Amino acid sequence: MTAVPTAVPSAAPGAPVPPWSPSEAQCLEVMRQLHVTGYVGWHVVQGRTVLQADEAGRRMLGFHADEELGPRQFFDCVDPHDRPRLMARWQRLCAHAERVVTEEFSIWLPDGSARHMRAVAVTDFEADRRAAGGVVGLYDITAERQALQALSESEARLEEAQSIARFGCWEWDYLHQRAKFSPEALRILDMPMDWQPHLRDVIKIIPEDQREWVVGLHNDAYAQKLSTLRYEVKHRRANGETRDVHSVIKIEYAPNGSLRRLMSTIQDVTELKTYRRQLHSLSFFDPLTELPNRALFVDRLRQSLNDAAWHDQQLGILMLDVDRFKDINESLGHSAGDELLKQTAQRLHQVLRGYDTVARLGGDEFAVVLPEVRQPTDLGSIAHKVLNAFSAPFTVGGKEVFVTTSVGGALYPADAKDVDQLLQYADAALYHAKARGRNNFQFYSKELTAQASERLNLESELRKGIERNELELHYQPKFELSSGKLVGAEALMRWNHPTRGMVPPLSFISLAEDTGLIVPMGRWALRSACKAAVHWNQASDHLLKIAVNLSARQFAGDINFARSVQEILEETGCEPRWLELEITESLLLDNRDEVRDTLEELAVLGVTIAIDDFGTGYSALSYLTRFPVQILKIDRSFVKELPSNKSSAELVKAIVSLGRSLNMALVAEGVETQEQAAHLNGLGCEMVQGFLYGKPVTEAAFSKLVEAS
Ligand code: C2E
Ligand code: MG
Ligand code: MG
Repeated sequence: MTAVPTAVPSAAPGAPVPPWSPSEAQCLEVMRQLHVTGYVGWHVVQGRTVLQADEAGRRMLGFHADEELGPRQFFDCVDPHDRPRLMARWQRLCAHAERVVTEEFSIWLPDGSARHMRAVAVTDFEADRRAAGGVVGLYDITAERQALQALSESEARLEEAQSIARFGCWEWDYLHQRAKFSPEALRILDMPMDWQPHLRDVIKIIPEDQREWVVGLHNDAYAQKLSTLRYEVKHRRANGETRDVHSVIKIEYAPNGSLRRLMSTIQDVTELKTYRRQLHSLSFFDPLTELPNRALFVDRLRQSLNDAAWHDQQLGILMLDVDRFKDINESLGHSAGDELLKQTAQRLHQVLRGYDTVARLGGDEFAVVLPEVRQPTDLGSIAHKVLNAFSAPFTVGGKEVFVTTSVGGALYPADAKDVDQLLQYADAALYHAKARGRNNFQFYSKELTAQASERLNLESELRKGIERNELELHYQPKFELSSGKLVGAEALMRWNHPTRGMVPPLSFISLAEDTGLIVPMGRWALRSACKAAVHWNQASDHLLKIAVNLSARQFAGDINFARSVQEILEETGCEPRWLELEITESLLLDNRDEVRDTLEELAVLGVTIAIDDFGTGYSALSYLTRFPVQILKIDRSFVKELPSNKSSAELVKAIVSLGRSLNMALVAEGVETQEQAAHLNGLGCEMVQGFLYGKPVTEAAFSKLVEAS
């Protein structure tokens, strides 16, 4: 511990003599004017320093009126931290003849409490530069210190809060061209703690692709004298990480309108955005299946309804639940139940189209919005697909379980026109399906249910019919118009149904196309026609071409259709020139390379390609030259109107000349009268087919025709 000086050290030799040497009274007067709280006077008597204090001064230092007060006693009550500094200062003061000095220090009072003092010492010097004494004014600054302490603590707390909230602030002072950044702001911007940028450096740290936009926002705000501006930029950190930084900027203007100051808070909202997204997904998606939940479903349904109303379209909804889900849940456990729901969601996704919304409404209840329903029966086909999606067993909890579902459907606008009613009706239909013994679907409207179940019946009957060989091919003869010679036949499918009788193709072909049954059916027809073509060409002295109708679905459903045709030709011994394949215009409009490649391969094989129902498709004729087509079949609807209907007559004439110029042969379909035949002959149409010459007949009957020809 530093020794307590009891005598005032002499001023250093040669130190300048202070020009002002006030008396104690003068010092006291100064103190009074400085509004000191208390004071201590001191003077040197015979080399000893004597202290005197007024009452307030004694009280402030914690001394009783009669207690001895000397330098030792004074320094004893100074906080040990401050004591060495203070004593050194006092010695320097005396030695260097400093007239006025200020010091701050703490003292300990006898009751153990601490006070903070500011002391102003005014010193009186002898002519020989020795300190003679002086007055020390004392201010109690405890309250001030505490306030400062509290302020710095709250600043620290603010800084901490800012760093927790990833919230920083910065300002730019236009007057002094100075920036100030809080530590958190620098952390957010990934800049060094001593960064002292100019405004242009601040602009430079905005990623280049967003800079122009941000500068534009600022300039617009200044032009409109806006006081606040908010925006968000994607800030790229040095390590490549991207953070979303949200800024709120207060703009201060000088009275003349020029910019005075920008004060900005910036916040790193990257996590906040992630939480918000998660929150959004929690509020709109079912976490188990990741499907939209009821809220989102209702919203999508509402939107789809508006669209449907606007475009005058139909819309369907299906509601389904898993039959006996409770039993599974209870017997196999809840995690197996959860697994089943997840798999159900996946299967539903597989059978529905991308623009259909599948949602989980809760429990084992799912719903689907079908925004594009062309005809009411579409809803039935989709409901049926949904039922079929459950036909394979599910594996849950390590066990295979067979599960079925019940489906209820309702249609806009036929059944209901608003969201609530549609949902209510679909729900009622679902209830009905359950009551009907589950594993089936019901629609709100009776007719629709009837139509849908009729189609469903027909489908299962068709499957059975195929197995039981109920399908037949009938052949309609085709003749050369000029000579009347038999040139071939068109194979037309019939379904010889045990109770319905002979079912025409129009009642089952589209169903077969929808269900994919057309692929095996078409292959069967092709094989049968090829076999027949072999017999007839062997029996005939001239070439007979047998035409087989193809569905677009056969191209899509058979990965290598041309190869299948080739195999059938080889297997049956049919020469390619005996076979003609009828396709529709719409297939050619499907601009995929595969279609063209397949047709090219068939043409290379030597098979003839004809376009059926020509003229009813689209008018873009350019496609004709791009495909290897040899025959155009003029649609029956035009032939029927001949020769009286002028526009039909013109159209047929145009088709004939088009075919001629493209080097294609022409077949007129549906020729029923002599006039039609004569007219077609006049136009130069080569071949005819129609009731005038012969209806489609059985294979055996056609064989007789061949023999007779
Ligand atoms: P399509 O290929 O245009 O066949 C001609 C249709 O017109 C046949 O009807 C035929 O019986 C009918 N027809 C022929 N001449 C006359 C006539 O003078 N007057 C009238 N009113 N009708 C005539 P069908 O057999 O009912 O076949 C209807 C359609 O079903 C066919 O039209 C074809 O698109 C399709 N179809 C038939 N068989 C098959 C097949 O095996 N596969 C595929 N994919 N479609 C087939
Ligand atoms: Mg045809
Ligand atoms: Mg036709």
